[in-house]
Amino acid sequence: MRLSLNLLRSAVESENAGAHPSELPSLEYPLFPPPRLAVLGAELRPSPGTHCFPYWSAPQLAQLQPMALAGSFEELANVARLEGDGVLLLRDLRYPLVVFTPPAAAPLSDERHDQLWRWFRLPVFEQIRNAAHQLLAWECEAHQGFHLSHGVLPSHLGAATLPGPCPCGAKEARVALLRPNALAASF
Ligand SMILES: [Zn+2]
Repeated sequence: MRLSLNLLRSAVESENAGAHPSELPSLEYPLFPPPRLAVLGAELRPSPGTHCFPYWSAPQLAQLQPMALAGSFEELANVARLEGDGVLLLRDLRYPLVVFTPPAAAPLSDERHDQLWRWFRLPVFEQIRNAAHQLLAWECEAHQGFHLSHGVLPSHLGAATLPGPCPCGAKEARVALLRPNALAASF
């Protein structure tokens, strides 16, 4: 177990090998200033109040008492499981969650949204990030599709461009991410 963990750690570290902290991807939390928050399973650019835990434990989170969480669905599910087991109590969580989804995966399903709501009772902002955690697309407060990061094309994500401006006013292109079953059905 220790061996595999170390292998995983060295693989993750090599992804960002030589990267200066200022070169790491930033979180882009939907509120500014962001509340005290914990980023789980990723090393992002340091900023005030943002605590990154590429690897974390229940005591670490209990000590920090984050007001918001960011991480993959699986990381958040682990937090919910620990809270359900009575091992962890995050009493200050009250700001939106940021959920990281890899580009090859389907965006959060309605079922997963329901699970997150049952677990945390907080709004969710989904972000599409690659293995190096660079931001490819993100949900704005309008929750009507995803905005694309500079240089990302809809075809990169198998996404369909949405017409018209976004109610949030952002100028970045806006797309609908197709779920694999929707993609299959359209062929
Ligand atoms: Zn928008």
